Amino acid sequence: MTKYVYNFKEGNKDMKSLLGGKGANLAEMSSLGISVPPGFTITTESCNDYYENNMRIKPEIIKQINEQLEILEKTMNKGLGSLEDPLLVSVRSGAVFSMPGMMDTILNLGLNDETTIVLAKKNNDYKFAYDSYRRFIQMFADVVMGVEKYKFETVLSRIKEQKNYSQDSDMTSEDLFEVVEEFKKIYRKEVGNDFPNNVKEQLMLAVEAVFKSWNNNRAKVYRRLNGISDKLGTAVNIQAMVFGNMGDNCGTGVCFSRNPSTGENKLFGEYLINAQGEDVVAGIRTPKPVSVLEEELPEVYKELLNITKVLENHYKDMQDIEFTIENEKLYILQTRNGKRTALSAVEIAVSLVEEGIITKEEALLRINSDDINKLLHPTFETKALKEAKQLTQGLAASPGASTGAIYFTAEEAVQASSTKDVILVREETSPEDIEGMVSSKAIVTSRGGMTSHAAVVARGMGKCCVCGAQSMFIDYATKTVRIGDITLKEGDIISVDGSSGKVYLGEVAKSDSSFTDSFKKIISWADEIRELKVFVNADNEKDAKVGFEFGAEGIGLCRTEHMFFEEDRISLVRKMILSSTEEERKVFLDKLQPIQSEDFYKIFKEAQGKSVNIRLLDPPLHEFLPHDEKTVNIIAKELEISVEQLENKIKSISEFNPMMGHRGCRLGVTYPEIYLMQAKAISQAAILATKDGYEVNVEVMIPLVGIEAELKYLKDRIEFLLEKDIQQYGVPFNYKIGTMIEIPRACLTADKIANHAEFFSFGTNDLTQMTFGYSRDDAEKFIDIYKKKNILEQDPFINLDESGVLELMKIAVNKAKQTRHNIKLGICGEHGGDEKSIESVGNIGIHYVSCSPYRVLIAKLAAAKTVIKRNINK
Ligand code: PEP
Ligand code: MG
Repeated sequence: MTKYVYNFKEGNKDMKSLLGGKGANLAEMSSLGISVPPGFTITTESCNDYYENNMRIKPEIIKQINEQLEILEKTMNKGLGSLEDPLLVSVRSGAVFSMPGMMDTILNLGLNDETTIVLAKKNNDYKFAYDSYRRFIQMFADVVMGVEKYKFETVLSRIKEQKNYSQDSDMTSEDLFEVVEEFKKIYRKEVGNDFPNNVKEQLMLAVEAVFKSWNNNRAKVYRRLNGISDKLGTAVNIQAMVFGNMGDNCGTGVCFSRNPSTGENKLFGEYLINAQGEDVVAGIRTPKPVSVLEEELPEVYKELLNITKVLENHYKDMQDIEFTIENEKLYILQTRNGKRTALSAVEIAVSLVEEGIITKEEALLRINSDDINKLLHPTFETKALKEAKQLTQGLAASPGASTGAIYFTAEEAVQASSTKDVILVREETSPEDIEGMVSSKAIVTSRGGMTSHAAVVARGMGKCCVCGAQSMFIDYATKTVRIGDITLKEGDIISVDGSSGKVYLGEVAKSDSSFTDSFKKIISWADEIRELKVFVNADNEKDAKVGFEFGAEGIGLCRTEHMFFEEDRISLVRKMILSSTEEERKVFLDKLQPIQSEDFYKIFKEAQGKSVNIRLLDPPLHEFLPHDEKTVNIIAKELEISVEQLENKIKSISEFNPMMGHRGCRLGVTYPEIYLMQAKAISQAAILATKDGYEVNVEVMIPLVGIEAELKYLKDRIEFLLEKDIQQYGVPFNYKIGTMIEIPRACLTADKIANHAEFFSFGTNDLTQMTFGYSRDDAEKFIDIYKKKNILEQDPFINLDESGVLELMKIAVNKAKQTRHNIKLGICGEHGGDEKSIESVGNIGIHYVSCSPYRVLIAKLAAAKTVIKRNINK
């Protein structure tokens, strides 16, 4: 018989898919002897079963829940609903992956009118009992019945205002009794029934609510954003309550074993005395830093410190821990690997290696391309910051520097973000705001601490965030925010520094970020391990320089057409294209050649002997011609021809399907003089650079080859020219002639094509376009729909398609090696800088990947991970 319910004593940390992250870790901590309140977990399979069963919990599952409940009652020596000693439990969701704020928690379940009195008498504490009851009614109404929280909060605010209380905890037991009565009335009005007195009914409704919350919109959006399958289901954890709201030697908190923003090896977190559950993260009261606990409850602090170290060593990673203190006894309610900023991820990974807790390989597997991207985020320039007008200071919740127009609701932020950079400004955020947060460049809140919803979610997204900027007074009705004597309205521009917590008026200049020593170490470890070389796609010496600074080992693609667009050349290029005869064309090509030669010389100089792959002209010629009337008029004048003549010429070379048309080597075959001009420019630059003492290793790359004879035709002529020049000038330089592989036919005939190519560079952009038959310029119109309808799992222009494109590449690699065993093989499409794609191509026998300069480090890391994962799977 299937086991649907597991006692904490029966599970362990490796059972996440069945028990969820929270359940598996509660079980693991229980077996480590850490003080975890006892309880049990209803499996993720039960959740899936619930959905398969038309949203009904089947009798077998109910039976197993009741059996475990009995065990729990015995362990606690209390009974659910008992009028002698009532057991209270928490009911919490726990999916395989944590979804911060997306799922719901119910505390104090088991309270009703009778058990509350018993609890009050037993503890001789009416305030505590009624505080617990009012919280329960509110949470139950919200989570199970969907009654909006604010309806209850208005009651609390009113009473606090009437009685001049500053905090919830100032309320007396009499106040709380009245609150409970009012809450029950609200419940009746909103739900249409009385609040359930039957505790078993409360329990089953709560379990079902957790199952239902798996499919609420917030959870679905989160899963979609993070690529988490809808089929995993959530577990439910039922656990004996411990109380942080029983007085001043009680409390509740959240802490990280290391600083999640900076990685500093020091306990970091927040807590509240005399509080329960969500109080800390809800931002209702401002929590105290966990370091203060050392003064308030020193023994508890010592124990907490000790437990965090035990857990960190056990899990070999920084832990995010929830704790409750009940009458100075510490309980751990949850541990999980903590979310962290990219900066902190790198710091922690390196520290853990240096402390001997993990290996370099494990450290590398913990860093991903997102982290690297985040580390490459800009920061505000120091000088500009000095001159900027600071508006407010909040908590530095998530690093980064962003400027944008302020909006006060998620919806308005989403709308405005289609035309401009937006900053979401709110008192606090909640899961409902998730899409607004996704659409914003930064988030600023006036309330809430470092573990508030805004802070946690923004950090996870790598989004700049400042929290708890208390001097901001937001008026949602007038869409304004007042800070001192400044009032800003919707659409006004601010700059947010998530690393310092400061917010500035208007735009502040940004500068690129620099690497930390730990970041450099991570990259050096990747360099030690990786087998693939990493080259840079660079069209000029500036890009090449950036790429080389990041450690690129050569230039894998120089797109020469980009040089043609520059101010001093485009007119010559146009004249060349519009020429009617070969002679005429040659006049302009002769003028272009020294210009292009100078560009190549600069690149050779920058490369200092590293290989430089120069691709000959690729795009269809019409791309160089003017399309708007104004430019057509100017150019006609320049060319001394009529507008009509020019328009006719443009028409004559325009194509229905230019990306599949007269481009690449087809141009080379039609107008060999163009490719020969480029080859001449290369040889002249190489000769000059060699003479000037720079080593040259140049690769001449012919694009879009699909037929062996195309390549042979062009290669023979280029080779003739290069050899003749070398001989004539008596200056030898190293060169290779090869081709791009970007047409399926080229893959299938790679053995033949390799007869004439010393290297292949896979142009996976075009290869994807032509394999799928999707236009690479328009496919986004339907790819998103395909993804939503599960027809495509991912965009093949971002993540290389393994079933189709990769298979073609494998065929090409094998065939090419049959003809030429030492052929140099690489990839230079966008996939060369994509972590997932690099891991796909890393095992098919290619030698290098080439990508844009800012992706070089991502490529290095991915290349190292490919080797590490291969070794793990051996
Ligand atoms: C490619 O097709 O993958 C490629 C690198 O060339 P381009 O993007 O210039 O067509
Ligand atoms: Mg291409």
